[in-house]
Amino acid sequence: MRLSRFFLPILRETPKEAEIASHRLMLRAGMIRQEAAGIYAWLPLGFRVLKKIEQIVREEQDRAGAVELLMPTLQLADLWRESGRYDAYGPEMLRIKDRHERELLYGPTNEEMITEIFRASIRSYRDLPKNLYHIQWKFRDEQRPRFGVMRGREFLMKDAYSFDVDETGARLSYNRMFVAYLRTFARMGLKAIPMRAETGPIGGDLSHEFLILAETGESGVFCDNEVLDLPVPGEDVDYDGDLSPIVRQWTSHYAATQDVHDEARFEREVPLERRLQTRGIEVGQIFYFGTKYSVPMNAVVSGPDGVEHTIHGGSYGVGVSRLVGAIIEAFHDENGIKWPEPVAPFQVVILNLKQGGSDTDPACEQLYAALTAQGIDTLYHDLDERPGAKFAAADLIGIPWQILVGPRGLAEGKIEVKRRSDGQRELMSPADALARFDA
Ligand code: ATP
Ligand code: MG
Repeated sequence: MRLSRFFLPILRETPKEAEIASHRLMLRAGMIRQEAAGIYAWLPLGFRVLKKIEQIVREEQDRAGAVELLMPTLQLADLWRESGRYDAYGPEMLRIKDRHERELLYGPTNEEMITEIFRASIRSYRDLPKNLYHIQWKFRDEQRPRFGVMRGREFLMKDAYSFDVDETGARLSYNRMFVAYLRTFARMGLKAIPMRAETGPIGGDLSHEFLILAETGESGVFCDNEVLDLPVPGEDVDYDGDLSPIVRQWTSHYAATQDVHDEARFEREVPLERRLQTRGIEVGQIFYFGTKYSVPMNAVVSGPDGVEHTIHGGSYGVGVSRLVGAIIEAFHDENGIKWPEPVAPFQVVILNLKQGGSDTDPACEQLYAALTAQGIDTLYHDLDERPGAKFAAADLIGIPWQILVGPRGLAEGKIEVKRRSDGQRELMSPADALARFDA
């Protein structure tokens, strides 16, 4: 992509309304634009990152055996009356009427709708287990939308829903999502820690929130710091096999958010030098809720014994759009963003340090064409700007690799390759640079 053709409205000034680094950087780097409180347009740079994150989430859901579909954003109020949640949900739900005075709502979540879809066609335990998910915009009329996309009103969520004939089966489904989440966040370069979470009115011990540690997080967290070094299962993990040892390993260390924190237990279980008390950002939550929706909505299957069984369900959310901000909180410095490669909007940015130069222009064009042919997502900064402005822009938008092409280096047949994550620079020939990025 040539910057001259792209759309990258970089801001010079730091926006005053932004309280935390990720929000400031997303605005400055031209990734998002606020259209209303908690409602954002995703500009091209931000949209690329959002799609990368979405795709990693999708691949790991698929690997774990979940099946993708797409449900609408608008739902009928009557569906929510069936479960009893229409009145219970409160002012966070955006309620709408159509021209026929039919009551609709902009979905904050999809338990009711997926249960309706499930019960319309699944009749037998032989069709179970099933796990269906979608990646769709949600609306919650948050009292205090803030921190940009971290707490928006309209936000992108992956939500999966599992259906099993009994609790034993539901626990296996839960474990599959638990492991899928470990892998999903690790692939984005994040250390997300599963923490015991409030289970709400249903009770039971089966809900975990996945949090990444960050001073700017909204949740207080308490954990055994050994949990930070636990191994994440590889892509060869067998989702049909026994995942409970993995889940047990991760849940045997103390890790809890402030809502469920038990100080006495913390002190009993974790030696002083391993006690970590900090803040975190919730990037996902998994939940076993049993028959909470299947009972009122009559979702049943016939069992091997011939009798009807009310299905046992779970739901599993990932904050896809929140992750864009969360990743920046984890990876930035005073100059800008430092994208981990798997989610970066481009892999390489070429900086032509003398736009219009008889040597630099063809060298940049050749590099750009060759990298693109190699399948490397490359941004070519081809605007007529001073080198200083190009360096600052490249550091701000955080592309993992910068290729600096200037007349002095070229005279010796060299260009400079800079790694954004640690600032390391290396002089090399264009051919060596191309070989380095050969995928
Ligand atoms: P929170 O406690 O942060 O309000 P929640 O527990 O209400 O979130 P869930 O219902 O668990 O949210 O939704 C699944 C995921 O969706 C969360 O883990 C979070 O990453 C994301 N999410 C929830 N609310 C928002 C929001 N207002 N803006 C952006 N992402 C959100
Ligand atoms: Mg939650």
